[in-house]
Amino acid sequence: MRLARKRPDRIVPEYSLTGDLLSFRRCARQYRYQNGSALPPSRPVQLWYGEFIHGLLENVYRLWESRGNLPFPIPYTPLTLDDPIEEPPHDLPELDLRRLGWPVEESLLNQNKRARSRKARLAAYRRAAAAVNTLGPHLFPLIAEAEERVIGTRDIPGAVPHEHRAEKYALTGVIDVLTEIELGSAESGNQIRQAVQAACPDLTGEFEVIVDYKGTRRPDTSTAEWTDGEWQVQTYAWLRHEQRRSRRVAAGILIYINELAPSEGDLLALRAALGAGRTDVAPFLDSDRRMLENWRPGARAQFSPEFLFRRAVRVIPVDDQSIFTATGAFDNTVAHIETCVRQEDEAVSILQTWVDDCDDAKTCAACDFRYFCEGYQRTGNAIGEEDNLQDDI
Ligand code: SF4
Repeated sequence: MRLARKRPDRIVPEYSLTGDLLSFRRCARQYRYQNGSALPPSRPVQLWYGEFIHGLLENVYRLWESRGNLPFPIPYTPLTLDDPIEEPPHDLPELDLRRLGWPVEESLLNQNKRARSRKARLAAYRRAAAAVNTLGPHLFPLIAEAEERVIGTRDIPGAVPHEHRAEKYALTGVIDVLTEIELGSAESGNQIRQAVQAACPDLTGEFEVIVDYKGTRRPDTSTAEWTDGEWQVQTYAWLRHEQRRSRRVAAGILIYINELAPSEGDLLALRAALGAGRTDVAPFLDSDRRMLENWRPGARAQFSPEFLFRRAVRVIPVDDQSIFTATGAFDNTVAHIETCVRQEDEAVSILQTWVDDCDDAKTCAACDFRYFCEGYQRTGNAIGEEDNLQDDI
């Protein structure tokens, strides 16, 4: 009897939606260096801020869930620049956000992740307090799952059997929050429900909404970050639909946490975006308009909660066509990465293969590779590096 020869194992590379695809789209060169090196970034400060906000929101939600409720607003005794990075005083109230935030900070410290500066730490607590108290009462009652892992397999466009290392790839992601909304039963005063209904007026019945927290300001509508955010939630919806037990995903919500407690830099960027017609949410109350017009750097701006909420919450309707467009875009990103991997393997150099075309000044300013990167010099990011890294509060 003739035995068939064993076929070589086919590779199914695994790509994380945020860790790989969004990183590659931000800067291919940085993505290659970070993935080809066993060393963690020397300044994992952006990681710290995002992980702190995510961790604190999840901790407060778990507490809300275990107790059946929490007395909002949850108190926050403001940090000062002199406060040491250590467990807060025991005489603070049990539910003070500094006490709830400390276990998250401690866990990040154990992973060698810390805030870039005391000002950055202070800003993170201020924004986390705003996020917990603005979103918590409306979002927590709708949450069905927090930190939901999703995975699906997709074809790589243009991959030819036996010519390319893979024809399929596994796409993975972690959805921050999955909500189940039944419009008939969710409280009519719930602001998340109202925002979803305003963006998707024809919705009926039960459906899911995917929520993702972003530790940034609301991006300008002309940027790649704006489009990538939309494609991210559309692709999460596809991944969620692959899990057969899920309900229909009707919308995604991106929550831009910085908008709930904007810093000086955020306000300057908002003014510039309004002046250039690059944002979709402008002040709609006279008091907010006047506040923004009269505000001067160094002062604190007091906007209405409605305006802050509208700036922070972006609802993205989901349907078959929008999912098709987004997943197709990420398939092409995977094909692009696979081409780069192959070219490098064929002895084309890293510098020729992985382009340094990042156009985000903050990403470049925090990049470990900027000192020998032509892209950094070319785009003029060297100028104003300190501005780009300023921790304004
Ligand atoms: S400095 Fe900027 S362009 Fe260069 S690798 Fe880093 S992120 Fe990319």
